[in-house]
Amino acid sequence: MKAHDAMYIGGQWRPAVGQDTIAVVNPANEQVIGHVPAGTAEDVDAAVRAARDAFAGWAATPPAERGAKIAALRDALVARKDEIAATVTAELGAPPQLAAAVHAGLPIVIAGSYAELAATYSFEEKTGNSTVLMEPVGVVGAITPWNYPLHQVVAKVAPALAAGCTVVLKPAEDTPLTAQLFAEAVHEAGLPAGVFNLVTGLGPVAGQALAEHDDVDLVSFTGSTAVGKQIGALAGSAVKRVALELGGKSANVILPSADLATAVETGLANALSNAGQRCSALTRVLVHKDQYDEAVAVAAKAIAAYTPGDRIGPMVNSKQLERVRGYIEKGVEEGARIVAGGPEAPLDTGYYVSPTVFADVTPQMTIAQEEIFGPVIAFLKYEDEEDALAIANGTVYGLAGAVWGEPEQAVAFARRMEAGQVDINGGRFNPLAPFGGYKQSGIGRELGAHGLAEYLQTKSLQF
Ligand code: NAP
Ligand code: MG
Repeated sequence: MKAHDAMYIGGQWRPAVGQDTIAVVNPANEQVIGHVPAGTAEDVDAAVRAARDAFAGWAATPPAERGAKIAALRDALVARKDEIAATVTAELGAPPQLAAAVHAGLPIVIAGSYAELAATYSFEEKTGNSTVLMEPVGVVGAITPWNYPLHQVVAKVAPALAAGCTVVLKPAEDTPLTAQLFAEAVHEAGLPAGVFNLVTGLGPVAGQALAEHDDVDLVSFTGSTAVGKQIGALAGSAVKRVALELGGKSANVILPSADLATAVETGLANALSNAGQRCSALTRVLVHKDQYDEAVAVAAKAIAAYTPGDRIGPMVNSKQLERVRGYIEKGVEEGARIVAGGPEAPLDTGYYVSPTVFADVTPQMTIAQEEIFGPVIAFLKYEDEEDALAIANGTVYGLAGAVWGEPEQAVAFARRMEAGQVDINGGRFNPLAPFGGYKQSGIGRELGAHGLAEYLQTKSLQF
């Protein structure tokens, strides 16, 4: 992997207007592994103009042809699978097995799904005396976080391209190398110049310039709720479309009829995947009071297998490390009990946190309310199902959840949860199912046909 000292704009790598760069750090060993340009408003403007110039031609390209280009893009990602996995390991610190299976593997599946959807989706429908056309919204400004460096990019770019939109991407400053590899794959796939453009840079500079650019028609943002609110406000004042995929504080609800050990162990694996740096991590475990001590004991034992530096990668940067440690200290201060892990650094180098289990957590504690974005899990005790529901729904978030128990009971409980996706008895991730949040977890959906519809607007023709 070699860092480009340029932006990908209008089908070519062009030097940035300014001289500033961003150092990319490997969080597993704290070494600088490359530099990328820190783009400014001028670079963003050039990229938006390239996207605007390419829009009419791409929008008019038959959907099946757009699908064929997305299939070529998927093939280019397949060809670079190992390089992508190695790059994600280098800039995010993801363990190699996770990097290969999820960080490189999942975007290939998502790109494939949009290659197919572009060709099969109904871009026209009839109702009464009208024909309704689904037309692309226009130029998309995509702003992505570092936690799944390629997946977050593909989950926006693939449906946007399938819809006939053109895109300017501002990836996270912590993981720009994977985004550069993606731009190389776009180029190899032979997408027309300007259909996809990449501007690396800092959020408050390049990200903000992209979100407020007059010629961007839709802003799609994934990241923190704090920045999401600013972007929503900007988009609102300019009457732009906006999609926000924000944080979560998801509950793993274990009903008394569940297989307790499986529910605890599977939930733990979910919450610790990607070192807990996941918006949909099941970080609150809700257990009936009679089974609580047993559940905590199962978790304390199972977590020993998750060794930092081996199965658990580091936090992405020192700021996140301090943030996560701060939450662990806050949990102790507020009276929760550590049964595994703790705030001490488990290794001498790298931004590692020990996977931590808290017991005696009450619903209003900070560690039960705020998104931690690290390997920290809170066990909460409930009296009965109504109590469990009140706790599960008792945060500002509503991204995901899980329920374990007799299937009909579990589904009845899931129907009452305020969350965009709920796994029943360990149900697997489905790349075609819509993903997104209730409440302050966001606006809009990604993935599958619903994710494609986000990039379309209707035009009704009456006859
Ligand atoms: P963030 O600041 O919201 O970053 C997300 C993206 O937005 C990055 O590309 C970022 O650029 C950009 N950005 C930042 N400020 C911006 C602005 N004023 N205008 C436009 N774009 C802007 O998130 P973070 O600082 O990386 O992580 C902080 C917390 O966010 C985490 O602890 C976690 O709670 C949450 N988070 C959630 C998700 C999710 O999937 N829902 C993902 C990542 C983080 P820079 O990279 O230059 O900052
Ligand atoms: Mg940031």
